Amino acid sequence: MRWILLAVIAAVAGIVGVNFGWQWVLAPLLAAALLRWLLTSLRALVHDAKQLDDDQATPAAPVSSDERTLFWCEECGTEVLLLIRGTDRAPSHCGQRMNERTEILS
Ligand SMILES: [Zn+2]
Repeated sequence: MRWILLAVIAAVAGIVGVNFGWQWVLAPLLAAALLRWLLTSLRALVHDAKQLDDDQATPAAPVSSDERTLFWCEECGTEVLLLIRGTDRAPSHCGQRMNERTEILS
């Protein structure tokens, strides 16, 4: 059923493109792609904000002295030493989440 619908849409797009110009086919496709990208980005932002609200419910706690927690950025190599854990989420750097590394001190 889905293939038939796609074939019909492709045929209509081909007829419109040949008779009226391809800008009438490509412009709506571009608009749909941009709208989809925009909605996906906004959804990710809202999801991150909700997760942040949930994480802030937990109180901040100092890290135990038996271990050392570092966050490192895969993109540029920056390392951050964790002193007080406020949330379970890793901090962001260079537009992405940093990787967590915990070292046990002897
Ligand atoms: Zn970075």
